Amino acid sequence: MPDFLLSIRRFFVNVNAYLIREENLFVSKIFIIVLVALMSTFFYITGTFDNIENITLDQRFKYRKNLLTHPKIIIIQIAEDSIKKLGRWPWSRERHAELTKVMSDFGVKALAFDILFPETSTNESDTLFAQDMKKAGNVYLPVAFQNLHDIRGENIIQSIPLFENAVKGEGHITVQPDSDGLLRRIKLRVQHKNRNYYQLGLMLALDYYGIDPKDVKAGNNFLQVPIPDEKPLIIPLTKEGDIFINWAGKWTETFSHVSYNDVLVTHSQWLQGQKTWLPVEMFKDSLCIVGVTATGLHDIRSMPLEPAYPSVGINATVTNSVLQREFLSISGDIENLLIIWCLSGLIFFVTHRAGYFKTIFLIIALGLSYMTASVVLFSHATIIISVVYPLILIFFSTFALALYHHIVITVEKRRLTNLAIRDNMTGLYNISHFRLLLNAEIKSTKLRRNKNLSLIMFDLDFFKKINDNFGHAAGDEILYTVASILRSISRTLDVACRYGGEEFVLMLPGTNRDNAVKIADKIRKSIESHEFYLGENKTHYNVTASFGVTEYHDGHETGEKFLIRTDQGLYQAKNKGRNRVCPV
Ligand code: GH3
Ligand code: MG
Ligand code: MG
Repeated sequence: MPDFLLSIRRFFVNVNAYLIREENLFVSKIFIIVLVALMSTFFYITGTFDNIENITLDQRFKYRKNLLTHPKIIIIQIAEDSIKKLGRWPWSRERHAELTKVMSDFGVKALAFDILFPETSTNESDTLFAQDMKKAGNVYLPVAFQNLHDIRGENIIQSIPLFENAVKGEGHITVQPDSDGLLRRIKLRVQHKNRNYYQLGLMLALDYYGIDPKDVKAGNNFLQVPIPDEKPLIIPLTKEGDIFINWAGKWTETFSHVSYNDVLVTHSQWLQGQKTWLPVEMFKDSLCIVGVTATGLHDIRSMPLEPAYPSVGINATVTNSVLQREFLSISGDIENLLIIWCLSGLIFFVTHRAGYFKTIFLIIALGLSYMTASVVLFSHATIIISVVYPLILIFFSTFALALYHHIVITVEKRRLTNLAIRDNMTGLYNISHFRLLLNAEIKSTKLRRNKNLSLIMFDLDFFKKINDNFGHAAGDEILYTVASILRSISRTLDVACRYGGEEFVLMLPGTNRDNAVKIADKIRKSIESHEFYLGENKTHYNVTASFGVTEYHDGHETGEKFLIRTDQGLYQAKNKGRNRVCPV
């Protein structure tokens, strides 16, 4: 393996070893939660699940009641009935001229055509339409852009100059559906060749209040509309400069719709003093938008609430949002990341002392609460908060906390194992576990010739006296220190054990007797030279120990006999005056 891979591996092994320790469980939990939060942040920044985020937005629209639509907004639709009565589409412009005149007679505030007139037709009809629009003085026509990113190119589709000079204003009707084909956002302002084109629906709303479009202020993330006698309307924009369209409801459930043909019929009835089909008063001071709604004429879009929604309704929706002062504000990156990180903290604290099932229950409850909050915020405060990324966080936290509980169990298992195989005071193996290891080692030594195995056994000298003179606690301290010395001198393969009271034994696989004697002497010297300060008076004291050393040689000797033989060496050492090593 290359070096850097090795060091990465070593890093993870170390992190793992660190986290799976009883005293570090708190850190492990923080580590796990932070990891999940970082992952969610990464997904958020890269926009991995933006499509799903959009779908959650659609759901929020579905859960919400229809918005009230302003009674002054009227859609004049060119539906199947009008096509049947007035002939095949497209109609002669004389017909639109007639509608313009009719609308003037009815006293409408403004009239917008959601129909592009980029080419000339016959001279007479064009002139007639232009004259009537000029006379009405309140007609708006659309412009469209083939590419919203090219602000200089010849990519604008506009009415013929004759019409442009006759209208009160122009508004853009360009839409950019999301990658799934649904229309959720729109630009209220498009800059093209140093000119501002506001959305057609916004132009109508400005006309309603008598606001000059030049007085609309544009900020980085808002548009400010100065509404007379009211506080200015601040329209929040996304970082791309769009608004999220605040759909009022399904096509048939919102806005007043009248048929183009019915309007013309009503007008002639009205002129003749007959009872009219439509109440003429409804048009007084209204904002009328003319658009094609007949299926098959291709002016249909998909939006969150329904797959086929006539484009003309987009303009009405924008106008309505301004008149009702109801725009959707979307939480920005900082808010969303704050939500993700605060939720992580919350998950940590609510689950901190909880067991496994309670943790899962709490997390599910948190996820459901968050979803409910997002729906309530949307319905009652027109605020869109990110749903998917926080839910990803919550979802993965469940897994991560399961992992945490696994760590807890591992730690507990290790603790119980240690309790069974180790001596409590010194942390060395206890005698029963040592016997198991010794017997296993003897087996493997028997199988392989030329493999040595030695034992060192030692007992502290005059230990009783220490207990008597300085107390049991001082004795314990010495035992602990001697165990540390033993551990520091023994190698990885060696097995150290507390054999009984103040007796220790060390198994040295692959070591012959001479080398074992050397090691025993090293331990002896190390104990002898260690300075102890014992009792309340911190009396300076040196401890010594006596050692027996043997090597396993006879292939039939049992572990028990091997130990007894070593003990004989220890006995000799005591007899010969202590503080020495006696090989057997
Ligand atoms: P020697 O071995 O040199 O012959 O003398 P000794 O005084 O060490 O003799 P012995 O082995 O008979 O005494 C062992 C003493 O060790 C007895 C007991 O009080 C003490 N001891 C055994 N286990 C512990 C322990 O866990 N803590 C303390 N403080 N003392 C212990
Ligand atoms: Mg002793
Ligand atoms: Mg003893």
